[in-house]
Amino acid sequence: MTSIPRVVVIGAGSTGAATAHDLALRGFLVTVVERGEIASGTSGRNHCLLHSGGRYAVNDQESARECISERRTLEEIMPDLLERNGGLFVALNEEDLAFKETFLAACEVCGIPARELPLARVRKMEPFLNPDVLAAVEVPDAVFEPFHFCLAFLATARTNGAEVRTYNEVLELRTEGGAVSGLKVRDHRTGVTSMIGADLVVNAAGPWVGEIAAMAGLSVPVTPTPGVMVTMDVRLNNLVINRLNRPADGDIVVPQRATSIIGTTSWVVEDPDLIPVPPDHVSRMLACGQQLIPAVAKVKVRASVAVARPLVNKTGGDSRNVSRTFECFDHAAEGVEGLVTIAGGKTTSSRAMAERVADVVCAKLDKQVPCRTRETALVSYRDYYR
Ligand SMILES: Cc1cc2nc3c(=O)[nH]c(=O)nc-3n(C[C@H](O)[C@H](O)[C@H](O)COP(=O)(O)OP(=O)(O)OC[C@H]3O[C@@H](n4cnc5c(N)ncnc54)[C@H](O)[C@@H]3O)c2cc1C
Repeated sequence: MTSIPRVVVIGAGSTGAATAHDLALRGFLVTVVERGEIASGTSGRNHCLLHSGGRYAVNDQESARECISERRTLEEIMPDLLERNGGLFVALNEEDLAFKETFLAACEVCGIPARELPLARVRKMEPFLNPDVLAAVEVPDAVFEPFHFCLAFLATARTNGAEVRTYNEVLELRTEGGAVSGLKVRDHRTGVTSMIGADLVVNAAGPWVGEIAAMAGLSVPVTPTPGVMVTMDVRLNNLVINRLNRPADGDIVVPQRATSIIGTTSWVVEDPDLIPVPPDHVSRMLACGQQLIPAVAKVKVRASVAVARPLVNKTGGDSRNVSRTFECFDHAAEGVEGLVTIAGGKTTSSRAMAERVADVVCAKLDKQVPCRTRETALVSYRDYYR
């Protein structure tokens, strides 16, 4: 081991980017290897919702608490990267209306500021919202731009010495005496294959974590769980519009720049590189989106995409009901040293995921440095290219 331990992070999505930042800030030599461009996996194509936690307040309170806590932290450390527009949970029928008190009580328990707004005001704020809404509750949802989100973490990591190698795909993990000691990568721009040595490897490959773990003969209980999102050609809402009920298909419309994104569905695939966009999912999104915002019917669809959540699903249960929280796996428990996997969570919780895995890295490499990412403002994402 060198005097400063070298940690290689696999993946430059939101998890890997935030992890690189945390580890570099704690004084490790960090190398990020990413097979494509930054945020070219799930992080680059999600709803872009910086969750208030409202969506999980009733069913998944651990995740809801993580979201509101991280939403506040991200507002402090990356204020220029967020659209702090807020969100509404709207009731469209009696069942939604009956859910309102449960929702408000759950938000209070989770520490999520939530208040009912007068409908006359809501209609002024959201002229395209279904005029028949029966109630609307405001929460502090926000919106991020995923590429800039990841870039800001990596730009800051680079100011602290991290190296980022994009277009470098991990082909093999090198093991010596039962421990991972490095990896073999191919640089797709040059075609050159090389070895990178590591005191520890962090597997932050999102829905591909299972493929990386398999290179060391390991398995992780992470299921690639896609969702379809339909992007409309026009921005139809100012705030994030959520259905006031338990999470279900097509219950959210997130404004993103000049568009509105309707989402989402949830099913399981074997290969996160081969995700179809089922036409019936698209029509379901459009039908559900129209219930929230009738003008969806009059606007062109710009794109329909599907990406996979790296969902930690230990029971193999229905993916809709599995917690959206995250987990860190130290593979020493299965007899392989030198490899730690971090998976699950959300882009919203990426800083907290990074803190968790960096704590594990510190303990394993005997370098006790506290986490400082909560109070360290990120540099501009533009600095990545400077
Ligand atoms: C439909 C949908 C909507 C969502 N909406 C939101 C939302 O609005 N807000 C939110 O907070 N979260 C949202 N999420 C969740 C969030 O997008 C994910 O939890 C998050 O993006 C996962 O980030 P990650 O870095 O772990 O994975 P990824 O972003 O997938 O990053 C993993 C990276 O590893 C790389 N990689 C894979 N294999 C290799 C290899 N062999 N060598 C080198 N690199 C490799 C990939 O190219 C990829 O860039 C959504 C998820 C889905 C499915």
